[in-house]
Amino acid sequence: MIVTVTMNPSIDISYSLDRLNINTVNRTNQVTKTAGGKGLNVARVIHDLQGDVLATGMLGGIHGAFITSELEKAEIKHDFVTIKEETRNSIAVLHEGNQTEILESGPIVSEDEQAKFSDKFRELLDLAEIITISGSLPKGLPHDFYQQLVQAAQAHGVKVLLDTSGVSLEKVLSSQNKPYMIKPNLEELENLLEKTFSLEHLEDIQLALVEPLFKGIEWIIVSLGKEGAIAKHRDMFYRVTIPEINVLNPVGSGDATIAGFAYAMTKKLNPYEILRMCMATGMANARERITGHVDLANVKNYFSKVEVKKSRDSLINN
Ligand code: ATP
Repeated sequence: MIVTVTMNPSIDISYSLDRLNINTVNRTNQVTKTAGGKGLNVARVIHDLQGDVLATGMLGGIHGAFITSELEKAEIKHDFVTIKEETRNSIAVLHEGNQTEILESGPIVSEDEQAKFSDKFRELLDLAEIITISGSLPKGLPHDFYQQLVQAAQAHGVKVLLDTSGVSLEKVLSSQNKPYMIKPNLEELENLLEKTFSLEHLEDIQLALVEPLFKGIEWIIVSLGKEGAIAKHRDMFYRVTIPEINVLNPVGSGDATIAGFAYAMTKKLNPYEILRMCMATGMANARERITGHVDLANVKNYFSKVEVKKSRDSLINN
């Protein structure tokens, strides 16, 4: 089973307006409310792929109950720790081609709730083949919380796919216990290494993957949106290119990429197929309006169209 961890989920609310008027009332009947948070997107896409998945993390209050009911409706297995404070709302107002967001900072987690989650996580390790950890930490949890989870999973022989950024990622990377896979996008890679990269110089991105910070990580996939990805598996490099598609909403494509990777691992696919699968799921997500959703027919179609080039040395010749 694949277990997805979402420590700081949210209800993602979007309001579409022709025009956003300031300092007065705006009315709309175009509203969507979905169970959000990067890990929940991962869980939904694995479920769409017909993989065996269970979602865990922390949920609180009536917003937490809404997320639980959405997971029930979608028939996605879940086992969350209930917390006292309310799960957050993330609001996006879509207006005049813009997206204005209001993001709540979310609940503060108590030490007792932290301990409860750590216990649950250890129980779930008995059931898990792969763990995905996605997104930010809620307030109250220590910056090294993900590092603690990675360490526990490793002691149990369970592979961790980690998709986070900032201090929590730095804490994991500077520790002894490395995740099995990370998937920074270009901006996250830049922030992590305090360097800038450009798509015109892909060789610099390839070089960055051998930085000491990444030592011991089996798979690094730098996702490049419509430009595909550059990946490193052990001492091999891969340039992955994808065909142009008609994109409806690329938000959550990184989460879909993690889902595709986890699913491919459970199916024991080879490195080429793993890369094809995770690009195909990212693309299939971008093809949908709903964030964190793929159509299986699109995944199969894109899988056959992704190109993977492998090299031990330089794979960049453009
Ligand atoms: P997010 O944070 O929104 O989840 P991300 O920045 O982590 O996304 P991206 O690099 O944007 O991740 O996308 C991941 C993968 O999804 C890409 O490698 C690609 O396969 C696919 N993808 C993303 N955007 C597009 C696009 N515009 N056209 C085609 N495929 C896309």
